[in-house]
Amino acid sequence: MMEIIERLKVKGITLTPQRIAIVEFLGKSVAHPTVEDIHKAIKRKYPTMSMATVYSTLRLLKELGEIQELSIMKRGKACFDPNPKLHHHFLCRKCGKILDMDVDCPIIKKGWVSGCRVEEAQAYLYGVCSECLKKEQSAKE
Ligand SMILES: [Zn+2]
Ligand SMILES: [Zn+2]
Repeated sequence: MMEIIERLKVKGITLTPQRIAIVEFLGKSVAHPTVEDIHKAIKRKYPTMSMATVYSTLRLLKELGEIQELSIMKRGKACFDPNPKLHHHFLCRKCGKILDMDVDCPIIKKGWVSGCRVEEAQAYLYGVCSECLKKEQSAKE
């Protein structure tokens, strides 16, 4: 994640401690946080941090191609992914967690589908995650 900070410096982006805190938080997170999640976490260290600052920093990072905004909804809110590369996601209907799916889905690929040229493919899978399944299982026993 420090690489991002280096790249931002090279691009001439002003790095306030708040912005660095947001970048660092995103780098550590694997849970695809929403704006609220990020705001809540950063506010512990920077009580004056506003939602507007979080929004503007995320917008900037998105424009720079450092993060991506997912259109999959986490509790009805858009969430952010520190991995800017195209990959698939899984939403657990039980706990609302969004997981990265490191599968090369053979059905969803670049190419031609019904006469349309597919240039990008990002799948959203829905179901119950392994942790929730384990809980379900132990509740039955
Ligand atoms: Zn789950
Ligand atoms: Zn992801």
